Amino acid sequence: MCIFCKIVKGEIPNQTILEDEDFLAFNDINPSRKIHVLIIPKEHYDSFDVIPPKIMANMTSFIHKVASKLEIRKSGYRLITNIGDDGGQEVHHLHFHLLGGEPVGRLVR
Ligand code: ADP
Repeated sequence: MCIFCKIVKGEIPNQTILEDEDFLAFNDINPSRKIHVLIIPKEHYDSFDVIPPKIMANMTSFIHKVASKLEIRKSGYRLITNIGDDGGQEVHHLHFHLLGGEPVGRLVR
């Protein structure tokens, strides 16, 4: 079973920010910014590339709620999802990195 499925099952502990029936947001174990939260669907999808658009729509609403709870909607934040080998994906369970709490700098030049 993948590491994020184990987190969903409670077999690996996590610092939960927000949870509902279908999605979970928790602190990244190795944060790269003041706020570094991972947002995942509880159901396993290998990456963004294979998530059904209807589930992605629900995930979008959940991500908005996470940003609201963290009170960063005004100041802004960055969302990243790595896809596959060239995308640098290490954990093959779809996750969005939500980064913020400070200016995160330029990503694309
Ligand atoms: P990358 O490591 O290049 O960011 P991913 O996009 O696949 O690749 O991100 C995996 C993320 O999962 C990393 O930021 C890593 O710190 C995080 N991570 C791995 N294991 C855990 C864990 N048990 N709890 C929280 N975060 C984790």
